[in-house]
Amino acid sequence: KVAAFPHMKEIKDFDFTFQTSVNQQQIQDFLTFRFIEENENIVFLGPSGVGKTHLATAIGIAAAKKRTSTYFIKCHELIQNLRRARLENRLVARLKHYTKYKLLIIDEIGYLPIDQEDAKLFFQLIDMRYEKRSTILTTNVNFKAWDEVFQEPKLANAILDRILHHAKVVTMVGNSYRLKDHLAQENK
Ligand code: ADP
Ligand code: MG
Repeated sequence: KVAAFPHMKEIKDFDFTFQTSVNQQQIQDFLTFRFIEENENIVFLGPSGVGKTHLATAIGIAAAKKRTSTYFIKCHELIQNLRRARLENRLVARLKHYTKYKLLIIDEIGYLPIDQEDAKLFFQLIDMRYEKRSTILTTNVNFKAWDEVFQEPKLANAILDRILHHAKVVTMVGNSYRLKDHLAQENK
């Protein structure tokens, strides 16, 4: 089950002294999984490389180890799968499949634009999980700009409304960890 994660990043591998904009206590609190019992969501918001996927993955792996059914998927792939299911007349079954996970991690909302038809599919999934299941989302796009990601403001609003109604938002800032060695080099 744990092997389904694309990256095996755990909390012990996360350097909180590099990423000072997150509250370590808050992350530790997530690891009690109370948010899952309460069907709350977590949103990691911030630019590329600040550790959003790492933290989302770490929480997911820890949950899976505690036998919570957990699934990690990139937003783009999720939408492609829903689109394919609709074409094959099995959309409802696919939505139910994604709704059954106690914890679903949807990574990278916003890197790729989502057209109106796809936004409707995404809305259906979010609506089915709303107040029933926890979802962790990562995004590099401020909520105000989700209109542009989902292209249809009404849908963007309906999606955001449901995600944020019961959610903890972790806003992250800072330099990309991916570039840290290059930046350190330049400063020499
Ligand atoms: P994001 O999803 O925000 O773009 P990632 O979580 O993918 O960023 O992080 C990019 C890379 O840097 C990953 O390999 C991740 O494990 C690593 N990384 C990011 N932040 C930290 C950190 N504070 N401590 C240790 N590794 C980190
Ligand atoms: Mg990421």
